[in-house]
Amino acid sequence: MKTINDFNFENKKALIRVDFNVPLDEEFNVADATRIEAAKPTIIKVLEDGGSAVLMSHLGRPKGQKNPDLSLQHICNKVSDVIGVTVKFVPDCVGEVAEKAVAELQPGEILLLENLRFHAEEEKGDEAFAEQLSKLGDIYVNDAFGTAHRAHASTTIIARFFPDARCFGLLLAKEIEAIDKVMQTGEKPVLAILGGAKVSSKITIIENILDKVDHLIIGGGMTYTFIKAQGGQVGDSICEDDKMDLAMEILKQAKEKNVEVHIPVDVLAADDFANNANTQIVDVNKIPDGWQGLDAGPKTLEIFKEVILKSKTILWNGPIGVFEMESFAKGTIALGNYIDEATKGGAFSLVGGGDSVAAVKQFGFEDKVSYVSTGGGAMLESLEGKTLPGIAAIIG
Ligand code: AMP
Repeated sequence: MKTINDFNFENKKALIRVDFNVPLDEEFNVADATRIEAAKPTIIKVLEDGGSAVLMSHLGRPKGQKNPDLSLQHICNKVSDVIGVTVKFVPDCVGEVAEKAVAELQPGEILLLENLRFHAEEEKGDEAFAEQLSKLGDIYVNDAFGTAHRAHASTTIIARFFPDARCFGLLLAKEIEAIDKVMQTGEKPVLAILGGAKVSSKITIIENILDKVDHLIIGGGMTYTFIKAQGGQVGDSICEDDKMDLAMEILKQAKEKNVEVHIPVDVLAADDFANNANTQIVDVNKIPDGWQGLDAGPKTLEIFKEVILKSKTILWNGPIGVFEMESFAKGTIALGNYIDEATKGGAFSLVGGGDSVAAVKQFGFEDKVSYVSTGGGAMLESLEGKTLPGIAAIIG
């Protein structure tokens, strides 16, 4: 796996695909600079070598149209602040104006190109467009994990124009290593905690992960499909009746593969999907009609704690309760604390995919787990066992 550490960028122009798809507030200021900060080490390495950096990214979904609201010019000052170098901006990402700006770029300088998705060819993975982009640098660096599952011009197709000069940026390399640690090289026992709302959105992950883990914790809204499938009474809890056969099949496969599955035994049930609903702790198999399980119960948390503390590799995807409401966030917070404790004891913990990152950030667990993945969809597809096109294109 080639990373930027395998190259010397002295007098070279690095064409770096970053993920600067950041949220903007009403005045078009960057509301959260996490993704810019995440790209900093790669950019700094290029500059410190004596090279220059040409940054390309998408922002939002302009669908092939120029849309001033989604211009990357809005983020130029923020990138300058974060990197500590005044960033130049060019109002297109291909063509004469971009080529001229690149030609004038000196070592130590940074140039930000306009939104890639102002050109419909980007998302189509158009080869001629990728070739035009490829003229803007000597070495192609992909540091955008968030789009690594897309075969777009700037994330995948472009790599073929740099057969000997393409590599991963430091952020993307770290993502790949973290996922490998869970999926291939993790120390046993390996545990996956899968929460979230629905079985249907996690099914491919569950099937793939059964070959990699020793323990599987199933929590959150998914619980009730498993419980009902086994004859339990789930009241008004979220449940996918058409996925009950699948749930039984998963349990059967887990048994065959010697994976221990842990499902909640008690839940915090509510008489409404609301923060101020009446609540009670009930047996997961006996949730009365009119009540729905919205968080894990105390006995469940004790069981989960024990499993987490004996695991050496932990993957966490999805909250185990409706954490957006304070009344039903306790289980997810407790889980985060157990993972923190396990991590302090030497376990490797990876959090990623969809809402678990939001939960981790909201409750301040970011610095307590070993790694928080930045790519929602890309992370999920990796866990499903798919080869991401953006990664395959670099490896060749
Ligand atoms: P996902 O994006 O699949 O990880 O799902 C995350 C969502 O699952 C969050 O918005 C949670 O509120 C929701 N969730 C977790 N537990 C439950 C539950 N018991 N009932 C309904 N929704 C839940």
